[in-house]
Amino acid sequence: MIINNYSPGNTVILGGGPAGLGTALMLAQRGWKNITVIEKRPSADYYEPDKSFSYQIDGRGQKLTDLLKLTPKLAQISVANTDFYLTVIQKDGKRKTTKLPIIDPDRKPAYWLPRSSFVELFYHEITEKWQNSIQVLFDTKCIEIKQVGEQLEIITKSKNQKQLRLTPTLLIGCDGLNSIVRQTLHQWEQGQSNAFQMQQFPSASSGLRYKVLTLPPQFPLSNQEGDLAQSSMAYAIRGSFKGRLKAISLGLLPLKNPSQPRTANIITYPNHQIWQLETKEEVKDFFKKAFPQLPFETIISSEEIARFTRSKGGIFPIPQYCSGLYKIFGNPQDNQGTAVILLGDAAHCFPPDIGQGVNSALEDVYLLEKTLAKTQDNLSQSLPHYEKLRQPDIKSLIRLVQISYPWQYNQDPLQKRLWSLNFFLRFLLHRLLPFVFSPHSFVLIQNHELSYSEILTKSNKTTKLLGVLGVLVLLTFLSSLQG
Ligand SMILES: Cc1cc2nc3c(=O)[nH]c(=O)nc-3n(C[C@H](O)[C@H](O)[C@H](O)COP(=O)(O)OP(=O)(O)OC[C@H]3O[C@@H](n4cnc5c(N)ncnc54)[C@H](O)[C@@H]3O)c2cc1C
Repeated sequence: MIINNYSPGNTVILGGGPAGLGTALMLAQRGWKNITVIEKRPSADYYEPDKSFSYQIDGRGQKLTDLLKLTPKLAQISVANTDFYLTVIQKDGKRKTTKLPIIDPDRKPAYWLPRSSFVELFYHEITEKWQNSIQVLFDTKCIEIKQVGEQLEIITKSKNQKQLRLTPTLLIGCDGLNSIVRQTLHQWEQGQSNAFQMQQFPSASSGLRYKVLTLPPQFPLSNQEGDLAQSSMAYAIRGSFKGRLKAISLGLLPLKNPSQPRTANIITYPNHQIWQLETKEEVKDFFKKAFPQLPFETIISSEEIARFTRSKGGIFPIPQYCSGLYKIFGNPQDNQGTAVILLGDAAHCFPPDIGQGVNSALEDVYLLEKTLAKTQDNLSQSLPHYEKLRQPDIKSLIRLVQISYPWQYNQDPLQKRLWSLNFFLRFLLHRLLPFVFSPHSFVLIQNHELSYSEILTKSNKTTKLLGVLGVLVLLTFLSSLQG
Protein backbone atom coordinates (compact mmCIF):
# COMPACT_ATOMS: atom_id res chain seq x y z
CA MET A 1 0.00 0.00 0.00
CA ILE A 2 1.34 3.45 -0.95
CA ILE A 3 0.94 5.72 2.07
CA ASN A 4 2.83 9.00 2.32
CA ASN A 5 2.59 11.72 4.89
CA TYR A 6 1.66 14.49 2.51
CA SER A 7 -1.93 15.59 2.30
CA PRO A 8 -2.89 18.84 0.64
CA GLY A 9 -5.85 20.85 1.95
CA ASN A 10 -9.12 19.43 0.88
CA THR A 11 -10.08 17.79 -2.37
CA VAL A 12 -13.47 17.95 -4.05
CA ILE A 13 -14.29 15.41 -6.73
CA LEU A 14 -17.35 16.26 -8.82
CA GLY A 15 -19.04 13.08 -10.02
CA GLY A 16 -19.23 9.69 -8.35
CA GLY A 17 -19.02 7.55 -11.51
CA PRO A 18 -16.10 5.20 -12.31
CA ALA A 19 -13.56 8.05 -12.68
CA GLY A 20 -14.71 9.95 -9.57
CA LEU A 21 -14.80 7.04 -7.12
CA GLY A 22 -11.65 5.52 -8.66
CA THR A 23 -9.80 8.83 -8.13
CA ALA A 24 -11.04 9.09 -4.53
CA LEU A 25 -9.69 5.59 -3.79
CA MET A 26 -6.39 6.30 -5.55
CA LEU A 27 -5.82 9.52 -3.53
CA ALA A 28 -6.84 7.87 -0.24
CA GLN A 29 -4.40 5.07 -0.95
CA ARG A 30 -1.69 7.73 -1.42
CA GLY A 31 -2.49 8.96 2.08
CA TRP A 32 -4.67 11.93 1.17
CA LYS A 33 -7.40 12.99 3.60
CA ASN A 34 -10.43 15.30 3.37
CA ILE A 35 -11.69 13.99 0.03
CA THR A 36 -15.31 14.85 -0.74
CA VAL A 37 -17.14 13.29 -3.68
CA ILE A 38 -20.24 15.14 -4.89
CA GLU A 39 -22.73 12.93 -6.77
CA LYS A 40 -26.17 13.99 -7.95
CA ARG A 41 -27.52 10.43 -8.15
CA PRO A 42 -29.15 8.98 -4.99
CA SER A 43 -26.77 6.01 -4.55
CA ALA A 44 -23.82 4.15 -6.06
CA ASP A 45 -25.93 1.27 -7.35
CA TYR A 46 -28.88 3.44 -8.39
CA TYR A 47 -30.66 1.59 -11.20
CA GLU A 48 -31.38 3.77 -14.21
CA PRO A 49 -32.76 1.51 -16.96
CA ASP A 50 -31.35 3.62 -19.80
CA LYS A 51 -27.88 3.74 -18.18
CA SER A 52 -27.84 0.05 -17.31
CA PHE A 53 -25.30 -0.93 -19.94
CA SER A 54 -22.43 -3.30 -19.24
CA TYR A 55 -18.75 -2.45 -19.13
CA GLN A 56 -15.88 -4.60 -20.27
CA ILE A 57 -12.99 -3.77 -17.93
CA ASP A 58 -9.91 -4.70 -19.94
CA GLY A 59 -6.18 -4.73 -19.14
CA ARG A 60 -6.07 -0.93 -19.49
CA GLY A 61 -8.82 -0.40 -16.89
CA GLN A 62 -7.27 -3.11 -14.73
CA LYS A 63 -4.10 -1.02 -14.31
CA LEU A 64 -6.16 0.97 -11.80
CA THR A 65 -8.02 -2.00 -10.25
CA ASP A 66 -4.61 -3.71 -9.84
CA LEU A 67 -3.23 -0.60 -8.13
CA LEU A 68 -6.28 -0.55 -5.83
CA LYS A 69 -5.98 -4.34 -5.33
CA LEU A 70 -9.55 -4.76 -6.52
CA THR A 71 -9.03 -6.98 -9.59
CA PRO A 72 -9.74 -10.27 -7.74
CA LYS A 73 -13.05 -8.82 -6.46
CA LEU A 74 -13.82 -7.51 -9.95
CA ALA A 75 -13.23 -11.01 -11.36
CA GLN A 76 -15.57 -12.52 -8.77
CA ILE A 77 -18.55 -10.38 -9.80
CA SER A 78 -17.98 -10.43 -13.58
CA VAL A 79 -18.01 -12.75 -16.59
CA ALA A 80 -14.50 -13.06 -18.08
CA ASN A 81 -14.24 -12.53 -21.85
CA THR A 82 -12.49 -15.91 -22.02
CA ASP A 83 -15.90 -17.39 -21.03
CA PHE A 84 -17.87 -15.21 -23.44
CA TYR A 85 -20.33 -17.31 -25.44
CA LEU A 86 -22.84 -15.74 -27.81
CA THR A 87 -26.10 -17.37 -28.86
CA VAL A 88 -27.70 -15.93 -31.97
CA ILE A 89 -31.45 -16.58 -32.12
CA GLN A 90 -32.90 -16.19 -35.61
CA LYS A 91 -36.46 -15.04 -36.29
CA ASP A 92 -37.54 -18.66 -36.91
CA GLY A 93 -36.14 -19.64 -33.48
CA LYS A 94 -33.01 -21.38 -34.82
CA ARG A 95 -30.05 -20.93 -32.47
CA LYS A 96 -26.31 -21.06 -32.82
CA THR A 97 -23.84 -20.64 -29.98
CA THR A 98 -20.24 -19.57 -30.63
CA LYS A 99 -17.32 -18.46 -28.53
CA LEU A 100 -16.40 -14.81 -29.05
CA PRO A 101 -13.85 -15.00 -31.88
CA ILE A 102 -11.77 -11.82 -31.54
CA ILE A 103 -9.97 -12.56 -28.27
CA ASP A 104 -6.21 -12.44 -28.00
CA PRO A 105 -5.29 -15.44 -25.78
CA ASP A 106 -2.00 -13.78 -24.76
CA ARG A 107 -3.81 -10.94 -22.99
CA LYS A 108 -5.21 -10.66 -19.48
CA PRO A 109 -8.91 -11.58 -19.40
CA ALA A 110 -11.30 -8.64 -19.57
CA TYR A 111 -14.35 -8.64 -17.27
CA TRP A 112 -17.98 -7.92 -18.17
CA LEU A 113 -20.28 -6.45 -15.54
CA PRO A 114 -23.11 -3.93 -15.30
CA ARG A 115 -22.11 -0.29 -14.73
CA SER A 116 -23.97 -0.21 -11.40
CA SER A 117 -22.03 -3.27 -10.10
CA PHE A 118 -18.72 -1.68 -11.07
CA VAL A 119 -19.50 1.64 -9.38
CA GLU A 120 -20.78 -0.27 -6.34
CA LEU A 121 -17.47 -2.20 -6.17
CA PHE A 122 -15.58 1.09 -5.75
CA TYR A 123 -18.13 2.52 -3.32
CA HIS A 124 -18.07 -0.61 -1.17
CA GLU A 125 -14.27 -0.31 -0.91
CA ILE A 126 -14.68 3.31 0.26
CA THR A 127 -17.16 2.38 2.99
CA GLU A 128 -15.08 -0.63 4.08
CA LYS A 129 -11.63 0.97 4.22
CA TRP A 130 -11.56 4.70 3.65
CA GLN A 131 -14.39 6.29 5.62
CA ASN A 132 -11.86 8.47 7.47
CA SER A 133 -10.48 9.92 4.25
CA ILE A 134 -13.42 9.98 1.82
CA GLN A 135 -16.98 11.17 2.20
CA VAL A 136 -19.43 10.67 -0.66
CA LEU A 137 -22.40 13.03 -0.75
CA PHE A 138 -25.18 11.46 -2.84
CA ASP A 139 -28.27 13.36 -3.99
CA THR A 140 -26.06 16.44 -4.11
CA LYS A 141 -25.55 18.45 -7.27
CA CYS A 142 -22.91 21.05 -8.04
CA ILE A 143 -24.83 24.05 -9.31
CA GLU A 144 -22.09 26.67 -9.62
CA ILE A 145 -18.35 27.19 -9.43
CA LYS A 146 -17.13 30.67 -8.47
CA GLN A 147 -13.74 32.31 -8.27
CA VAL A 148 -13.23 33.92 -4.85
CA GLY A 149 -9.81 35.56 -4.71
CA GLU A 150 -7.25 32.90 -5.64
CA GLN A 151 -9.54 30.00 -4.68
CA LEU A 152 -12.53 28.36 -6.27
CA GLU A 153 -15.80 27.95 -4.41
CA ILE A 154 -17.98 24.97 -5.26
CA ILE A 155 -21.66 25.50 -4.54
CA THR A 156 -23.82 22.41 -4.23
CA LYS A 157 -27.49 21.78 -3.57
CA SER A 158 -28.82 18.62 -1.97
CA LYS A 159 -32.22 17.03 -2.53
CA ASN A 160 -33.66 18.90 0.45
CA GLN A 161 -32.44 22.18 -1.13
CA LYS A 162 -29.62 22.58 1.41
CA GLN A 163 -26.66 24.51 0.01
CA LEU A 164 -23.07 23.65 0.74
CA ARG A 165 -20.04 25.78 -0.14
CA LEU A 166 -16.63 24.13 -0.45
CA THR A 167 -13.27 25.79 -1.14
CA PRO A 168 -10.91 22.97 -2.16
CA THR A 169 -7.22 23.16 -2.96
CA LEU A 170 -7.84 20.49 -5.60
CA LEU A 171 -11.01 20.25 -7.68
CA ILE A 172 -11.33 17.14 -9.86
CA GLY A 173 -13.89 17.22 -12.66
CA CYS A 174 -15.16 13.66 -13.09
CA ASP A 175 -18.66 14.87 -13.93
CA GLY A 176 -19.03 13.34 -17.37
CA LEU A 177 -19.82 14.71 -20.83
CA ASN A 178 -21.68 17.83 -19.70
CA SER A 179 -19.08 18.64 -17.04
CA ILE A 180 -19.86 21.85 -15.16
CA VAL A 181 -16.15 22.04 -14.26
CA ARG A 182 -15.05 22.04 -17.90
CA GLN A 183 -17.86 24.36 -19.00
CA THR A 184 -16.99 26.87 -16.26
CA LEU A 185 -13.29 26.82 -17.20
CA HIS A 186 -14.31 27.32 -20.84
CA GLN A 187 -16.48 30.35 -19.95
CA TRP A 188 -13.65 31.91 -17.95
CA GLU A 189 -11.16 31.35 -20.78
CA GLN A 190 -13.38 32.64 -23.58
CA GLY A 191 -11.59 35.13 -25.78
CA GLN A 192 -8.21 33.92 -24.52
CA SER A 193 -8.08 30.22 -25.42
CA ASN A 194 -10.25 27.31 -26.56
CA ALA A 195 -8.42 24.82 -24.35
CA PHE A 196 -11.58 23.79 -22.50
CA GLN A 197 -13.90 23.75 -25.50
CA MET A 198 -14.77 20.25 -26.74
CA GLN A 199 -13.39 19.63 -30.24
CA GLN A 200 -15.75 17.33 -32.10
CA PHE A 201 -15.00 14.76 -34.82
CA PRO A 202 -17.52 12.91 -37.01
CA SER A 203 -18.25 9.19 -36.62
CA ALA A 204 -20.65 6.82 -38.36
CA SER A 205 -22.08 5.74 -35.01
CA SER A 206 -22.62 9.08 -33.31
CA GLY A 207 -26.21 10.24 -33.41
CA LEU A 208 -27.56 6.68 -33.20
CA ARG A 209 -30.29 6.45 -30.58
CA TYR A 210 -30.56 3.73 -27.95
CA LYS A 211 -33.08 2.50 -25.43
CA VAL A 212 -32.75 -0.32 -22.97
CA LEU A 213 -35.43 -2.96 -22.44
CA THR A 214 -35.26 -4.67 -19.05
CA LEU A 215 -35.96 -8.42 -19.11
CA PRO A 216 -36.43 -10.68 -16.08
CA PRO A 217 -33.47 -12.80 -14.94
CA GLN A 218 -33.41 -16.19 -16.76
CA PHE A 219 -36.40 -15.28 -18.90
CA PRO A 220 -38.05 -18.00 -21.07
CA LEU A 221 -36.69 -18.26 -24.61
CA SER A 222 -39.70 -20.26 -25.84
CA ASN A 223 -42.89 -21.83 -24.56
CA GLN A 224 -41.02 -25.08 -23.87
CA GLU A 225 -40.70 -25.78 -20.15
CA GLY A 226 -37.18 -25.12 -18.77
CA ASP A 227 -35.99 -23.35 -21.93
CA LEU A 228 -34.55 -20.36 -20.10
CA ALA A 229 -31.92 -17.74 -20.90
CA GLN A 230 -28.61 -18.34 -19.08
CA SER A 231 -27.37 -15.26 -17.27
CA SER A 232 -23.71 -15.71 -18.26
CA MET A 233 -24.57 -16.12 -21.97
CA ALA A 234 -24.67 -13.20 -24.43
CA TYR A 235 -27.61 -13.21 -26.86
CA ALA A 236 -28.25 -11.58 -30.23
CA ILE A 237 -31.97 -11.96 -30.92
CA ARG A 238 -32.77 -11.17 -34.54
CA GLY A 239 -36.10 -9.57 -35.36
CA SER A 240 -38.35 -10.40 -38.32
CA PHE A 241 -38.69 -6.90 -39.79
CA LYS A 242 -36.64 -5.85 -42.80
CA GLY A 243 -35.39 -2.45 -43.94
CA ARG A 244 -33.13 -0.05 -42.10
CA LEU A 245 -35.99 1.95 -40.59
CA LYS A 246 -37.87 -1.07 -39.23
CA ALA A 247 -35.39 -3.92 -38.70
CA ILE A 248 -34.53 -4.46 -35.06
CA SER A 249 -32.59 -6.87 -32.89
CA LEU A 250 -31.95 -7.27 -29.17
CA GLY A 251 -28.40 -7.45 -27.81
CA LEU A 252 -27.87 -8.89 -24.33
CA LEU A 253 -24.48 -8.94 -22.60
CA PRO A 254 -23.51 -11.63 -20.05
CA LEU A 255 -24.08 -11.25 -16.31
CA LYS A 256 -22.51 -13.10 -13.40
CA ASN A 257 -25.40 -12.67 -10.97
CA PRO A 258 -28.22 -15.01 -12.10
CA SER A 259 -30.87 -13.08 -10.15
CA GLN A 260 -30.09 -9.70 -11.74
CA PRO A 261 -32.47 -8.49 -14.50
CA ARG A 262 -31.14 -8.71 -18.06
CA THR A 263 -30.96 -5.62 -20.20
CA ALA A 264 -31.36 -5.60 -23.96
CA ASN A 265 -29.86 -2.70 -25.87
CA ILE A 266 -31.84 -1.44 -28.82
CA ILE A 267 -29.66 0.75 -31.04
CA THR A 268 -31.16 2.34 -34.16
CA TYR A 269 -31.17 5.29 -36.54
CA PRO A 270 -32.91 8.38 -35.09
CA ASN A 271 -35.68 8.07 -37.70
CA HIS A 272 -36.34 4.37 -36.98
CA GLN A 273 -39.98 3.41 -36.52
CA ILE A 274 -39.47 2.56 -32.84
CA TRP A 275 -39.08 6.27 -32.00
CA GLN A 276 -42.49 7.02 -33.50
CA LEU A 277 -44.39 4.57 -31.28
CA GLU A 278 -46.38 6.64 -28.81
CA THR A 279 -48.57 4.27 -26.79
CA LYS A 280 -47.70 1.14 -24.86
CA GLU A 281 -50.14 -0.84 -27.05
CA GLU A 282 -48.18 0.23 -30.17
CA VAL A 283 -44.89 -0.75 -28.51
CA LYS A 284 -46.23 -4.13 -27.38
CA ASP A 285 -47.63 -4.88 -30.83
CA PHE A 286 -44.34 -3.86 -32.47
CA PHE A 287 -42.26 -6.18 -30.24
CA LYS A 288 -44.69 -9.10 -30.59
CA LYS A 289 -44.50 -8.90 -34.39
CA ALA A 290 -40.76 -8.20 -34.42
CA PHE A 291 -39.89 -11.19 -32.24
CA PRO A 292 -42.35 -14.02 -33.05
CA GLN A 293 -39.76 -16.56 -31.79
CA LEU A 294 -40.02 -15.23 -28.19
CA PRO A 295 -42.96 -15.72 -25.78
CA PHE A 296 -43.05 -11.94 -25.51
CA GLU A 297 -46.15 -11.64 -23.31
CA THR A 298 -44.68 -13.87 -20.60
CA ILE A 299 -41.33 -12.07 -20.67
CA ILE A 300 -42.21 -8.39 -20.52
CA SER A 301 -44.55 -6.97 -17.93
CA SER A 302 -46.99 -4.22 -18.92
CA GLU A 303 -45.17 -1.90 -16.43
CA GLU A 304 -41.89 -2.39 -18.31
CA ILE A 305 -43.61 -1.76 -21.64
CA ALA A 306 -45.09 1.45 -20.18
CA ARG A 307 -41.67 2.54 -18.83
CA PHE A 308 -40.00 1.73 -22.14
CA THR A 309 -42.64 3.75 -24.02
CA ARG A 310 -42.12 6.80 -21.76
CA SER A 311 -38.31 6.63 -21.87
CA LYS A 312 -36.56 8.98 -24.28
CA GLY A 313 -33.47 6.75 -24.34
CA GLY A 314 -30.09 8.23 -25.18
CA ILE A 315 -27.96 9.30 -28.14
CA PHE A 316 -24.44 8.13 -28.92
CA PRO A 317 -22.23 11.22 -28.54
CA ILE A 318 -19.92 12.67 -31.17
CA PRO A 319 -16.26 11.74 -30.48
CA GLN A 320 -14.83 14.76 -28.69
CA TYR A 321 -12.09 15.95 -26.38
CA CYS A 322 -10.68 19.13 -24.92
CA SER A 323 -6.96 19.85 -25.11
CA GLY A 324 -6.77 21.56 -21.72
CA LEU A 325 -6.74 19.03 -18.89
CA TYR A 326 -5.79 21.24 -15.94
CA LYS A 327 -5.73 24.83 -14.65
CA ILE A 328 -4.07 26.24 -11.57
CA PHE A 329 -5.45 29.26 -9.69
CA GLY A 330 -3.13 30.86 -7.10
CA ASN A 331 -0.84 28.60 -5.15
CA PRO A 332 -2.72 25.46 -4.10
CA GLN A 333 0.41 23.90 -2.63
CA ASP A 334 0.32 26.52 0.16
CA ASN A 335 -3.48 26.28 0.47
CA GLN A 336 -3.67 29.69 -1.28
CA GLY A 337 -5.37 28.59 -4.46
CA THR A 338 -7.15 25.78 -6.29
CA ALA A 339 -5.79 23.34 -8.85
CA VAL A 340 -8.34 21.88 -11.25
CA ILE A 341 -8.03 18.70 -13.32
CA LEU A 342 -10.44 16.96 -15.72
CA LEU A 343 -10.63 13.16 -15.96
CA GLY A 344 -12.75 10.61 -17.85
CA ASP A 345 -15.74 11.67 -19.94
CA ALA A 346 -15.37 15.25 -18.69
CA ALA A 347 -12.26 15.49 -20.92
CA HIS A 348 -12.96 12.91 -23.66
CA CYS A 349 -16.17 11.25 -24.73
CA PHE A 350 -17.30 9.09 -27.67
CA PRO A 351 -19.73 6.32 -28.72
CA PRO A 352 -19.18 2.91 -27.09
CA ASP A 353 -17.91 1.15 -30.28
CA ILE A 354 -14.54 0.05 -28.89
CA GLY A 355 -15.47 -0.20 -25.19
CA GLN A 356 -12.81 2.32 -24.17
CA GLY A 357 -14.97 4.94 -22.38
CA VAL A 358 -14.58 3.50 -18.92
CA ASN A 359 -11.15 1.98 -19.59
CA SER A 360 -9.65 5.28 -20.76
CA ALA A 361 -11.23 7.00 -17.73
CA LEU A 362 -9.59 4.46 -15.39
CA GLU A 363 -6.28 4.81 -17.24
CA ASP A 364 -6.48 8.61 -16.71
CA VAL A 365 -6.68 7.99 -12.95
CA TYR A 366 -3.83 5.48 -13.09
CA LEU A 367 -1.58 7.93 -14.97
CA LEU A 368 -2.47 10.77 -12.61
CA GLU A 369 -1.28 8.53 -9.76
CA LYS A 370 2.01 7.96 -11.58
CA THR A 371 2.61 11.71 -12.01
CA LEU A 372 1.67 12.42 -8.37
CA ALA A 373 4.12 9.73 -7.26
CA LYS A 374 6.88 11.24 -9.42
CA THR A 375 6.43 14.74 -8.03
CA GLN A 376 5.75 13.82 -4.34
CA ASP A 377 2.16 15.04 -4.83
CA ASN A 378 3.23 18.53 -5.87
CA LEU A 379 0.19 19.69 -7.85
CA SER A 380 1.95 22.56 -9.66
CA GLN A 381 4.40 20.03 -11.08
CA SER A 382 2.28 16.93 -11.50
CA LEU A 383 -0.73 18.43 -13.34
CA PRO A 384 1.29 19.95 -16.25
CA HIS A 385 3.23 16.69 -16.40
CA TYR A 386 -0.04 14.72 -16.56
CA GLU A 387 -1.42 16.92 -19.36
CA LYS A 388 1.75 16.52 -21.44
CA LEU A 389 1.69 12.75 -20.95
CA ARG A 390 -2.02 12.25 -21.65
CA GLN A 391 -2.84 14.78 -24.41
CA PRO A 392 -1.35 12.82 -27.36
CA ASP A 393 -3.09 9.64 -26.22
CA ILE A 394 -6.48 11.29 -25.93
CA LYS A 395 -6.13 12.75 -29.43
CA SER A 396 -5.17 9.31 -30.79
CA LEU A 397 -8.01 7.62 -28.90
CA ILE A 398 -10.57 9.89 -30.55
CA ARG A 399 -9.14 9.03 -33.98
CA LEU A 400 -9.19 5.30 -33.09
CA VAL A 401 -12.88 5.59 -32.17
CA GLN A 402 -13.57 7.13 -35.59
CA ILE A 403 -11.84 4.37 -37.56
CA SER A 404 -12.05 1.18 -35.49
CA TYR A 405 -15.59 -0.17 -35.67
CA PRO A 406 -18.33 2.45 -36.07
CA TRP A 407 -20.31 0.23 -38.50
CA GLN A 408 -21.08 -2.55 -36.00
CA TYR A 409 -24.69 -1.48 -35.39
CA ASN A 410 -25.96 -2.74 -38.79
CA GLN A 411 -26.49 0.84 -40.00
CA ASP A 412 -25.20 0.00 -43.48
CA PRO A 413 -24.56 -3.60 -44.67
CA LEU A 414 -22.15 -2.46 -47.44
CA GLN A 415 -19.96 -0.45 -45.04
CA LYS A 416 -20.00 -3.36 -42.58
CA ARG A 417 -18.82 -5.74 -45.32
CA LEU A 418 -16.05 -3.34 -46.36
CA TRP A 419 -14.99 -3.13 -42.71
CA SER A 420 -14.86 -6.96 -42.51
CA LEU A 421 -12.78 -7.11 -45.71
CA ASN A 422 -10.32 -4.57 -44.33
CA PHE A 423 -10.22 -6.44 -40.99
CA PHE A 424 -9.43 -9.83 -42.55
CA LEU A 425 -6.93 -8.38 -45.03
CA ARG A 426 -4.94 -6.87 -42.15
CA PHE A 427 -5.33 -10.12 -40.18
CA LEU A 428 -3.92 -12.22 -43.06
CA LEU A 429 -1.10 -9.81 -43.91
CA HIS A 430 -0.11 -9.65 -40.24
CA ARG A 431 -0.03 -13.48 -40.12
CA LEU A 432 2.19 -13.57 -43.23
CA LEU A 433 4.50 -10.65 -42.37
CA PRO A 434 4.05 -9.79 -38.68
CA PHE A 435 6.94 -7.32 -38.65
CA VAL A 436 5.57 -5.36 -41.59
CA PHE A 437 1.79 -5.31 -41.12
CA SER A 438 -0.24 -4.79 -37.93
CA PRO A 439 -3.64 -6.30 -37.24
CA HIS A 440 -6.72 -4.05 -37.30
CA SER A 441 -6.83 -1.32 -34.63
CA PHE A 442 -9.91 -3.05 -33.15
CA VAL A 443 -7.58 -5.95 -32.21
CA LEU A 444 -4.61 -3.76 -31.24
CA ILE A 445 -6.75 -1.96 -28.65
CA GLN A 446 -6.88 -5.21 -26.66
CA ASN A 447 -3.16 -4.80 -26.01
CA HIS A 448 -3.15 -2.60 -22.92
CA GLU A 449 0.64 -2.41 -22.96
CA LEU A 450 0.43 -0.22 -26.08
CA SER A 451 -0.62 3.39 -25.61
CA TYR A 452 -3.41 4.74 -27.83
CA SER A 453 -0.75 6.79 -29.72
CA GLU A 454 1.32 3.66 -30.40
CA ILE A 455 -1.77 1.81 -31.65
CA LEU A 456 -2.68 4.65 -34.00
CA THR A 457 0.89 4.83 -35.35
CA LYS A 458 0.85 1.08 -36.10
CA SER A 459 -2.58 1.28 -37.71
CA ASN A 460 -1.63 4.29 -39.87
CA LYS A 461 1.59 2.59 -41.01
CA THR A 462 -0.38 -0.47 -42.21
CA THR A 463 -2.94 1.81 -43.92
CA LYS A 464 -0.10 3.53 -45.83
CA LEU A 465 1.40 0.16 -46.84
CA LEU A 466 -2.01 -1.07 -48.01
CA GLY A 467 -2.32 2.10 -50.10
CA VAL A 468 1.07 1.45 -51.72
CA LEU A 469 0.11 -2.20 -52.32
CA GLY A 470 -3.18 -1.11 -53.87
CA VAL A 471 -1.42 1.29 -56.27
CA LEU A 472 1.09 -1.44 -57.25
CA VAL A 473 -1.72 -3.94 -57.93
CA LEU A 474 -3.56 -1.32 -60.02
CA LEU A 475 -0.43 -0.44 -62.03
CA THR A 476 0.31 -4.15 -62.66
CA PHE A 477 -3.29 -4.66 -63.80
CA LEU A 478 -3.18 -1.62 -66.14
CA SER A 479 0.16 -2.64 -67.65
CA SER A 480 -1.17 -6.18 -68.21
CA LEU A 481 -4.11 -4.65 -70.13
CA GLN A 482 -1.74 -2.64 -72.34
CA GLY A 483 0.59 -5.59 -72.95
C1 LIG B 1 -25.11 3.50 -24.15
C2 LIG B 1 -23.71 3.57 -23.65
C3 LIG B 1 -22.97 2.40 -23.58
C4 LIG B 1 -21.67 2.45 -23.11
N1 LIG B 1 -20.96 1.30 -23.09
C5 LIG B 1 -19.68 1.33 -22.72
C6 LIG B 1 -18.90 0.15 -22.75
O1 LIG B 1 -19.37 -0.93 -23.11
N2 LIG B 1 -17.62 0.22 -22.36
C7 LIG B 1 -17.05 1.40 -21.97
O2 LIG B 1 -15.86 1.43 -21.64
N3 LIG B 1 -17.75 2.53 -21.91
C8 LIG B 1 -19.04 2.54 -22.30
N4 LIG B 1 -19.76 3.69 -22.29
C9 LIG B 1 -19.09 4.93 -21.87
C10 LIG B 1 -18.93 4.99 -20.36
O3 LIG B 1 -20.20 4.94 -19.75
C11 LIG B 1 -18.22 6.28 -19.93
O4 LIG B 1 -17.08 6.50 -20.71
C12 LIG B 1 -17.80 6.19 -18.46
O5 LIG B 1 -18.95 6.08 -17.67
C13 LIG B 1 -17.01 7.42 -18.04
O6 LIG B 1 -16.93 7.48 -16.62
P1 LIG B 1 -16.87 8.89 -15.88
O7 LIG B 1 -16.78 8.56 -14.44
O8 LIG B 1 -15.83 9.74 -16.50
O9 LIG B 1 -18.24 9.62 -16.22
P2 LIG B 1 -19.78 9.17 -15.88
O10 LIG B 1 -19.89 7.71 -15.81
O11 LIG B 1 -20.60 9.93 -16.83
O12 LIG B 1 -19.96 9.74 -14.41
C14 LIG B 1 -20.18 11.10 -14.17
C15 LIG B 1 -20.90 11.22 -12.85
O13 LIG B 1 -21.00 12.60 -12.50
C16 LIG B 1 -22.28 12.87 -11.98
N5 LIG B 1 -22.53 14.30 -12.20
C17 LIG B 1 -22.58 14.95 -13.40
N6 LIG B 1 -22.80 16.26 -13.20
C18 LIG B 1 -22.87 16.45 -11.86
C19 LIG B 1 -23.07 17.60 -11.04
N7 LIG B 1 -23.25 18.83 -11.57
N8 LIG B 1 -23.14 17.44 -9.71
C20 LIG B 1 -22.97 16.19 -9.15
N9 LIG B 1 -22.77 15.07 -9.87
C21 LIG B 1 -22.70 15.20 -11.23
C22 LIG B 1 -23.19 11.94 -12.77
O14 LIG B 1 -24.40 11.69 -12.07
C23 LIG B 1 -22.33 10.70 -12.91
O15 LIG B 1 -22.53 9.77 -11.88
C24 LIG B 1 -21.08 3.68 -22.71
C25 LIG B 1 -21.83 4.87 -22.75
C26 LIG B 1 -23.13 4.81 -23.23
C27 LIG B 1 -23.92 6.09 -23.28
